[in-house]
Amino acid sequence: MTAYMANESEPFSEKLRVPEALTFDDVLLRPKESHVEPDEANTASHVSKNVEVNVPVLTAAMDTVTESDMAIAMARHGGLGVMHRNMTVDEMVSEIERVKQADELIIRDVVTASPDQTVREVDEMMGRQGVSGAPVVSDDGEVLGIISGTDIRPYLEVGESDAVREAMTDEVITANEDVTPREALELMYEHKIERVPVVDDENRLVGLVTMAGILQRREYDSAARDEDGHLRAGVAVGPFELDRARAADEAGADVLFIDCAHAHNRDVIDSAREIKDEVDADVVVGNIGTREAARDVIDFADGVKVGIGPGSICTTRVVTGAGMPQITAIAQVADVASQHGVPVIADGGIRYSGDAIKAIAAGADAVMLGSYFAGTDEAPGRVITMNGKKYKQYRGMGSVGAMKSGGGDRYLKDDEDGEEFVPEGVEAATPYKGTLESELHQLVGGMQSGMGYVGAESIPEFKERAEFVRVSSAGQQESHPHDVVITDEAPNYSPES
Ligand code: 5GP
Repeated sequence: MTAYMANESEPFSEKLRVPEALTFDDVLLRPKESHVEPDEANTASHVSKNVEVNVPVLTAAMDTVTESDMAIAMARHGGLGVMHRNMTVDEMVSEIERVKQADELIIRDVVTASPDQTVREVDEMMGRQGVSGAPVVSDDGEVLGIISGTDIRPYLEVGESDAVREAMTDEVITANEDVTPREALELMYEHKIERVPVVDDENRLVGLVTMAGILQRREYDSAARDEDGHLRAGVAVGPFELDRARAADEAGADVLFIDCAHAHNRDVIDSAREIKDEVDADVVVGNIGTREAARDVIDFADGVKVGIGPGSICTTRVVTGAGMPQITAIAQVADVASQHGVPVIADGGIRYSGDAIKAIAAGADAVMLGSYFAGTDEAPGRVITMNGKKYKQYRGMGSVGAMKSGGGDRYLKDDEDGEEFVPEGVEAATPYKGTLESELHQLVGGMQSGMGYVGAESIPEFKERAEFVRVSSAGQQESHPHDVVITDEAPNYSPES
């Protein structure tokens, strides 16, 4: 009898000729000769064909990460917040408007006084509204004067019931809508005033420019702004939500993110193409994770977003058995996208600044993070205390909780038939981290140091020069602090991650 001996070096079937796919911990950047100091490394990059950012970082379109507060903070610090879509179209429009108006030179929503109010009424109103002065306008909006704390002070106690027209300054310095920050400052300097009403040809109030507003804009010198100086806003839209996409576009969103867990789907692509044809904003298509998917969207997408299952709260890979480890996914998509000048965003799985810069080395132009920022003050939700430690809620958009509040179709399921959801994400909590500014500073600082190790002054140069080495599991262990007990927490490292 001849014993059958399986030749173990031969695969049993074609199916088992399995290519390898790598993720962040499998690779490290190969250090190279460098003349670049980390703080000299320029992180400017693109998130989509027409939208440039100074900081190549986006916050995830998740209802525990990005609403207008986060989007404002991100844009002020040079990145982009992508607002989630677990809200009505009207709510989304007002969130976009909030971002767009946040650092506007001309404040449109002006607190005004009427000439017939009493000084006391106006003093109380200004206190309530948190303003220190107000234009005085007639019933038809004509500017008659301006009243400030300085005008009011002599009237307190003795003349509180006097009419505002008595106390106001009636020689008002105004500007028209074309005023630039420089011209407004010159007017303020010349006339020793802190606010200038903006009027139309008939002297009717259309807005207000304040010294405080101009100084605040100056503080954010690397902010992501559109051509009119407004902060940039990104927003998620479902692949089949043409009306939402139109409304977001009209409200002034700069980039629409087609929000789908698996965008390599014929119906999704057709519908995304239709959205692209209808809007002026850039359209980023995602998520994808292979070069074939990239080829199928590259002719119309202004950007592509990569990530099939790397997210911290994501269970797609274990629930569906499908996914692509993130470094390989980015590299495959970037191989195709870079030849067509289409920016690539690496979405999900980034725990440390080192992961973020590895994603860029693999071919991404920018990175999107959820859990990294979910614990900051600017993320929606409140701080909760458990066992004496502070946390904020963080949940997957494919978790039961998020799907119940409206986000189910990202995962192509709904409970219209009353059937239970099949979730692809979990509900969790993440340590409270304080301000976005300090988290972003650590993230970008670490990325710049990575650029320094590779000797690259800019993101394009870094992508060109960066090379990976493959790391064994012993190498991975060596990469983390080992054989010590950590006594003080570092601001950019937590073993819990
Ligand atoms: P993180 O930065 O937390 O690792 O990943 C954030 C990303 O995970 C998001 O930008 C989004 O692409 C993805 N994501 C969000 N919620 C879910 C979910 O419930 N399931 C899956 N598969 N991915 C999710």
